[in-house]
Parts: sequence; C-alpha cells; structure tokens
Amino acid sequence: MFSYWEQQSFLQYDHIIIGAGIVGLSVGIELRGRFPKDRILVLERGFMPTGASSRNAGFACMGSLTELLTDLELMNEAAMLQLFAMRKSGLERLRERLGDRQIDYCENGSYELIDEKAVPALERMDDLNRLLFPLLGKDAFRRADQRIADFGFAAQFTKALVENTAEGELDTGKMLRALTDLALQNNIEIKTGVSVQRFEEQENGVRVFVPDTLRREEWVLQCRKLYLCTNAFTPELLSGEIVKPGRGQVLLTHVIPGLKFRGIFHMDDGYYYFRELHGRVLFGGGRNLDFETETTTALQLNEEIQNKLGELLRTVILPGTPFEVAQRWSGIMAFGPTKQPIVKAFSTRIYGAFRMGGMGLALGSEVAYQLVHTLLLDEK
Ligand SMILES: Cc1cc2nc3c(=O)[nH]c(=O)nc-3n(C[C@H](O)[C@H](O)[C@H](O)COP(=O)(O)OP(=O)(O)OC[C@H]3O[C@@H](n4cnc5c(N)ncnc54)[C@H](O)[C@@H]3O)c2cc1C
Repeated sequence: MFSYWEQQSFLQYDHIIIGAGIVGLSVGIELRGRFPKDRILVLERGFMPTGASSRNAGFACMGSLTELLTDLELMNEAAMLQLFAMRKSGLERLRERLGDRQIDYCENGSYELIDEKAVPALERMDDLNRLLFPLLGKDAFRRADQRIADFGFAAQFTKALVENTAEGELDTGKMLRALTDLALQNNIEIKTGVSVQRFEEQENGVRVFVPDTLRREEWVLQCRKLYLCTNAFTPELLSGEIVKPGRGQVLLTHVIPGLKFRGIFHMDDGYYYFRELHGRVLFGGGRNLDFETETTTALQLNEEIQNKLGELLRTVILPGTPFEVAQRWSGIMAFGPTKQPIVKAFSTRIYGAFRMGGMGLALGSEVAYQLVHTLLLDEK
C-alpha cells in the first residue's frame, strides 16, 4: 500500500543502475554527463558496495609480463592489444575523474617476481615491448634483477625481477568514497540495503522489483533504462551470459619496521600479488590452489589459501623478517571463458557492464564510458 506522494516522487526514474561498485557508480556519472536533467538511481544491496570494489588490492595495473603472454595464448594479438588499450584508457579516465591526490594514486614501482617456471617468459619480453610500444610510447618491461637483494626477496625463488613501467597503485577505499561523493554531487540518488529481486521489461519501460522488509511488501520501481552492474552476482538476475564468481583471498600485516620495498608486485602469472601499504604488506591471491571452492559468492576465508599466503610471505617475500597478520578478508570477482568484460545492450532498455575479472580498477571507467556513449540508444 503506497501513498500518492510515494508513487509520484519515489518510484519513477529515467535510469536505474543495479550495483554501486566502481562500474555502477561510473555508469551513473557518465549518464549524468549525457543526460543533465534525468533522474538517475543506483540500487545497492549491501550497506556499502559488497562485491569486489571495496575489497581489492588497489593495483592500478594493466597486466604483468606473464599475464600478457598468457593473454596472447587465449586471444589473438589484436584482441590482446585492444584489451590492454581498454585498461589503459580506463585508468586514465579514473585518474582524470577523481584526481591522483584524492585517490592516493602513485607510482612507487611495479614489478613481477620471475620464478623458475616463468623464466622462458623473459625471452619474449622484447617482442612484447615492441607490440605495446605504439600504445605506451615506451618499453613496458625491463629487467630489474639488481633490486631482488635490495627488496629482500628469497633468491632461490626469484630468478629475475621484471619492472613494469606503466603501472601504479591507489587507495581503493578513497577511490570508492570519492566516486560515491562525486555521484552524489552529480545529483545521482544512491539507495543501499536494496536488493533487486527481478525486473520486467515492458513496452514503455522496465519494472524493477525490490522487497521492502519493513513494510513486508514489494516495491515496483519504474525506469526507462536499466543497467546491470552486478559483476559476479549477475546470474541471479540474468541468465544466458557466462559469469562465474571467483573469490579472492587477502591478508594484511601489521606495520613492519624497516620494510625494504614499496610499490606493487605480481607473482605466478598474476595469481599472487602484494604491495606495500602504509608500512604494511597486503598480500592476496592463491585462487589457483582451490578453484572449485573459490568459485563462490560467499564472502568467507579459505584456510588453505590463507595459510599458503602466510607461507609465501615467510619464505619468499619477507624471509628472515618477523611479521604478524593484522587482518584477513575476501572479495568476489567475476570471470568468464574470455578475459574481455561484457558490455552489452540486451535490448533498447536493458544494458549491462560486468565480468571485470581481476582488473576492474583499470576497466571500470572505460566500460562505463563505452556503455553510455557508444551503446546506449537515446529514444524515450
Ligand atoms: C581480493 C581482490 C583483489 C583485487 N585486486 C584488484 C586490483 O588490485 N586491481 C584491479 O584492477 N582489480 C582488482 N580486483 C578486481 C576489482 O576489484 C573488480 O574487477 C571490480 O571491483 C569490479 O567492479 P564492479 O563494479 O563490476 O563489481 P562489484 O564491485 O562487485 O560491484 C557489484 C555490486 O553489485 C551489487 N549487487 C549485486 N547484485 C545486486 C542486486 N540484486 N541488487 C542490488 N545490488 C546488487 C553488489 O552488492 C556489489 O556491490 C580485485 C578483486 C578482489 C576480490
């Protein structure tokens, strides 16, 4: 039972976006740029965004040497370069939109630890540099083996160190906070704690169904266009696209006095990553140890993987340096058969941008731009 006022002022929108992660908020901001007067609403089911955007490692990255070589096995050269260009352009958009200072963006160095099995990748480094040169205007990768000892990594594991000259790091919390603030300043409504149950496309718009647990009834919101920015949770609302959840495990140490490195680091084909963060080490990854269990949307810890992270910290990254783990968490990513994100018009009223894999910070702003400025049809 709704009042006349509620129906008139709270149930009608031009655009409804589901999901307040980096993609959903960026779509909202792009929509505001294109439609200054429209009513735009973001619906988020968590108290705060509760997928990947507030739980990641803050790598402003486009791909390490071994990751990009793996990309080349999965797709042809043109597709790999196109994906790399999307990541690059997305990061540029994000930095331009929010400003480096606001998100603590900095370039303290980006490196990949090359273990025994990755050594053959070194032979292909020059080829990859040539391929990426037109996009970067400089060599993407160079050897930095002399820094292995400076950083204190275990020499028996780290056969080489490759520096990536095009990557940086940011503060994920500040980034998402700044994006939320910008959306609010742009007169975009954000409602949290609202879980969309389903939607129905009609001739003149889309009906979006959400439960009101307080009143114990169902709200039906109306919009002209609906945007699914629900990443790993998309299959709950939409079938037909392959989107598999991939949980990521993270730990953070207490401050380590005299920590020898700064910057961001990749290992093992991108399956492990670590960085210095306010004098601590943030270390994540290990999904490849237990793909089956980690194919889930449940925000839980995996003991086996968390133990492995601790072991690698002790033996490879901080050998001989005492540390204590302060915090552990997990987050949910979305994967598919290819690394390309899905940016799609499902009809003239329903759109989606999801499946960002492990590089949503780089891809998020670009997919939002493409969705709003190249895919979206503007008929009423
Ligand atoms: C541990 C970890 C480390 C990572 N590290 C990095 C990194 O260093 N660099 C990088 O670029 N990327 C990283 N990523 C990946 C990156 O975080 C994601 O690609 C990106 O955040 C995806 O953004 P999104 O907006 O598409 O999805 P999400 O942030 O998951 O947002 C989707 C939102 O939709 C909401 N939602 C879902 N269903 C509904 C519904 N029915 N109704 C209402 N709301 C709904 C969810 O609550 C969620 O908040 C990492 C991810 C994890 C988990």
